[in-house]
Amino acid sequence: RRPIIAIDGPAGAGKSTVARRVAQTLDLLYLDSGAMYRAITWLVLQRGIDPQDEVAVAEVIPDCEIRLAAGEPGTPFPSRIWINDQEVTRAIRSPAVTQHVSTVAAQPMVRQRLLQQQQVHGVHGGIVMEGRDIGTQVFPQAELKIFLTASVQERARRRQRDLAAQQHPPVSLEDLAQAIDERDRKDSTRRVAPLQQADDAIELCTDGLTIDDVVAKIVHLYHQ
Ligand code: C5P
Repeated sequence: RRPIIAIDGPAGAGKSTVARRVAQTLDLLYLDSGAMYRAITWLVLQRGIDPQDEVAVAEVIPDCEIRLAAGEPGTPFPSRIWINDQEVTRAIRSPAVTQHVSTVAAQPMVRQRLLQQQQVHGVHGGIVMEGRDIGTQVFPQAELKIFLTASVQERARRRQRDLAAQQHPPVSLEDLAQAIDERDRKDSTRRVAPLQQADDAIELCTDGLTIDDVVAKIVHLYHQ
């Protein structure tokens, strides 16, 4: 079986950029599990469903089919994603989806469905998957597990750059830091599969490191 690399960590730690580059360097597939939670959240909001209404959210799950592909080189989107054949690559990065995704992702039915889909992508290995619970739940058998972190200030700055690159209206650093904190709190305190560092994961703090530095460190760890 080909190897699996799991990259987890809090919001805005640079997981997408780094995971995508590591996958390119090692010629592995890249999969963004957060995009899948975002796509379901987008559908929930689009149908006018209250994201906290677990019964109503559970009802949209059976008829939602998610498809992922690598992002186009040179675009700010790490992956392209479709839900029920509608492309939502850009729509899933909106502030509204970002605000509600943790509420939807905390629901056991949602997680159960996506967990299955994510594990299917990994049956043959040869994949770099990033998220919150990849090393703990999705692929506890992964050959390499990285837990990426950075200070909240650094993560807010990165998120601001991402939003600008994706041509969303500007948000202040203070508001972004607060939103990131809130999302991390929800993600790490939920009952099912909370954001957590796996016992055998290697923690990498990316403050002051360039993307190249981080990618090089992970590739080095992989070859060890
Ligand atoms: O990585 P990204 O910020 O796009 O993830 C969006 C949200 O999806 C996270 O804040 C979290 O609530 C949820 N998520 C999750 N488990 C994963 C990946 C993402 O719960 N493996």
